[in-house]
Amino acid sequence: MSTEPESAAPKSDFIREIIAADLAVGKHPTTITRFPPEPNGYLHIGHAKAICLNFGIAGENAATGARCHLRFDDTNPEKEEVEYVESIKTDVKWLGFDWGDHLYFASDYFQFFHDCAVNLIEQGLAYVDRQSAEEIRANRGNLTTPGTPSPDRDTPVARNLDLFARMRAGEFKEGGCVLRAKIDLASSNMNLRDPVIYRILHAAHHNTGTAWCIYPMYDFAHPLEDALEHITHSLCTLEFENHRPIYDWFIEHCPVPSRPRQIEFARLNLSYTIMSKRKLLLLVQDGHVGGWDDPRLPTISGIRRRGYPAAAVGHFCKRGGITKVNGTTHVALLEFDVRDFLNQTAPRRMAVLDPVKVVLANWPAGSVENAEVANHPQDPAMGVRDVALGGEVWIERDDFMEDPPKKFYRLGPDRHVRLRGAYIIRCTGYEKDADGRITVIHAEVLPGTMGASTPEGVQCRAAIHWVDAASGRSAEVRLYDRLFTVEDPDAAEGGFVSVLNPDSLTTVTAVIEPSLADAEAGFSCQFERLGYFVADCVDHQPGTRPVFNRTVALRDSWSKKA
Ligand code: ATP
Ligand code: MG
Repeated sequence: MSTEPESAAPKSDFIREIIAADLAVGKHPTTITRFPPEPNGYLHIGHAKAICLNFGIAGENAATGARCHLRFDDTNPEKEEVEYVESIKTDVKWLGFDWGDHLYFASDYFQFFHDCAVNLIEQGLAYVDRQSAEEIRANRGNLTTPGTPSPDRDTPVARNLDLFARMRAGEFKEGGCVLRAKIDLASSNMNLRDPVIYRILHAAHHNTGTAWCIYPMYDFAHPLEDALEHITHSLCTLEFENHRPIYDWFIEHCPVPSRPRQIEFARLNLSYTIMSKRKLLLLVQDGHVGGWDDPRLPTISGIRRRGYPAAAVGHFCKRGGITKVNGTTHVALLEFDVRDFLNQTAPRRMAVLDPVKVVLANWPAGSVENAEVANHPQDPAMGVRDVALGGEVWIERDDFMEDPPKKFYRLGPDRHVRLRGAYIIRCTGYEKDADGRITVIHAEVLPGTMGASTPEGVQCRAAIHWVDAASGRSAEVRLYDRLFTVEDPDAAEGGFVSVLNPDSLTTVTAVIEPSLADAEAGFSCQFERLGYFVADCVDHQPGTRPVFNRTVALRDSWSKKA
């Protein structure tokens, strides 16, 4: 068991080695990284990996003045919303990072992108193409055939400047023309075959309104954003590897103030989940989940609501290391880190999810005693709490068996069990309804056994959790399970929606210790012997409407099934 997950130093990796080497030879006075989300959805745990890498590197090099920018890559007016900007900021902060004064919006650079485009035209390195999107696609050729030049490819500079000015002035309709870089139609790298760098979109933008009707493409805008912010190392995922030549081409040919270096690393993929914002949006929009913060989603807001501690998520992101090899990490590793962290930090409380009543026959009528129950079995510093105990208690239905096998050490006819932190009781009988379901268990307490060891001659080998019937409260408890039934939902024949787990959410009415009903939203604890639970940050109302989410069960039930 690790002691302090949050302090685990990141292993070095090829990116950190490059950065250290660059600093050592004085290539840059310091290191500047960035996290550049597109505000078109909520962040997920894959983004957490990129956040931990970029902000982590800045933190590790703080002595040299290193920093990490939070930059919203908001160059596409159609899919972006202010709600996403706010959620992204919340998520980065929750993970424990701070961008300080370095919050940027790519849309603030629209004039610069435009000026770079004009500059490329003036150099004879860009042209306005009036072919349709289909024609451009068809004329790009393929791996064995070079592209066919557009009839507009050799238009004179002055004419291109005029056409681009008219594009910008809104004279053309969407799709009427585009601006393309003039690079190499025979390149084996398709990204260099005269990529489109500007297109017309008559759409309002969340930041610039209707000031622009032309918008830059990602491959053109991204290197310029990095260079403008003096980013030294632009870290991105492996799918951008064959975009690096185009990244470098724009840096080479545009009037930029610095020369950032793009380095690619393997993205985080998790089993039993999906991680594309587009697909997550579909689950949200089609009502398969309750929202972006549904605790079953791998979104950062979802896992926060589920009760995953930020430090455990950070530890998980670091433990996988940074590599160049794409793979899939088993979600059980993430659950392991969450459990490991909560095992150390979460206080213990008692709740009964499937209650059956035990009536203590020899309990003095009306009397209430206080049991002193430890808040953490291995950490005495967490102290004890008083839990009221009267003549009737709830216990878990499966902690009683009418005809128990030898190895069953909990309650059964004429058997003993200890109520955690309180008395040993002996079962004296039970009642059943017409369906054979136990309705009540009769028992007696063994006087003098509270806070004392088991008396001679009594066989009592287990302690079970319980809730006092008179003072216990009821609560809505949401038992979450994996959202998908298969390891790779994206590979499912019927699509990922066809492999949604119908049992991913079970809601039960539980009984809980009275103090839990008054807990603040976000309070996280272990329900003894059941798992880790958190008071839901959206629906839980202290005192009036207790709602708890299961963060993770105590054991991985899936590894048994598998
Ligand atoms: P998605 O494909 O899930 O929609 P994206 O890559 O389009 O994600 P961006 O907002 O563009 O989302 O991503 C911001 C940053 O996060 C990028 O630098 C991207 O490389 C990184 N990132 C996205 N997904 C992952 C992942 N699974 N693992 C590591 N980094 C990721
Ligand atoms: Mg993207």
